[in-house]
Amino acid sequence: MFQCQFRDQYVRRLSTGSLNDGINEALGSIQTYLCSSTQFQTAPPIVREISQETAIRDPTIGQSKGQYRSGTNEMVLVKDLWCVKTVIHETLHAVSSTQQLEEAIQLKPLFEGLTECLAGYLLYKKYPPSFNCWKDNPDSWCRMSYAPFCRLWGSFFRFVPIKTVIPLYFEFPPDWRRACQRFVDAVRQSGYRDFPDVLGEALSSTPSMYWIFRSKCRGVFGKRFTIFCGTSIAIDFSIKVNRKRITYPKE
Ligand SMILES: [Zn+2]
Repeated sequence: MFQCQFRDQYVRRLSTGSLNDGINEALGSIQTYLCSSTQFQTAPPIVREISQETAIRDPTIGQSKGQYRSGTNEMVLVKDLWCVKTVIHETLHAVSSTQQLEEAIQLKPLFEGLTECLAGYLLYKKYPPSFNCWKDNPDSWCRMSYAPFCRLWGSFFRFVPIKTVIPLYFEFPPDWRRACQRFVDAVRQSGYRDFPDVLGEALSSTPSMYWIFRSKCRGVFGKRFTIFCGTSIAIDFSIKVNRKRITYPKE
């Protein structure tokens, strides 16, 4: 597997200091670049490193490099596999209201893709060497997980600001209906007045949530949306694209 120089430094720094430094640093990035009011709900998660053998024996972890367990507020990192992306991804789970929403759990691949996309964005902002591995190198430690769903969200953020997901992802107390409504409102305010309740519709047709979400967005954003979904432009935050907001005539 490909290891950038940064991973080596990062893992060494956290392993000799404290793994909690990693989650505090990740929380700082989330506050700086995504949502300034974010906090750990009760206390910072308890971070534990486990061996790959232990991970493989636990079907809920399997091949993953880490896991956040909301029931016990624990973060598990798999030894020799985790990297900065893992810590950011799991910290995002730890602060997200979606972790406590049954509906979001039903739409797990969609929300994993969102978490991964936000993690990629934070890498872009804070850890550029890891961002480059994440987006370009499928053999690297910090490579992208949940790629189709991650690109789906990346494409979405090519049309609307990334902050439109704040009410959906970070708002407490968790309330699915209110979160969906405030998310739809934020997207509509950014220029797409016809934006439908994609999450509500994805929820009622779970087996094809990817296609429902994609076709609803295609309907609102146009063909460019699906072109982005199929390419790395979707998640390459270093490439600026024209959002082409629609301006409606005054009523
Ligand atoms: Zn995850």
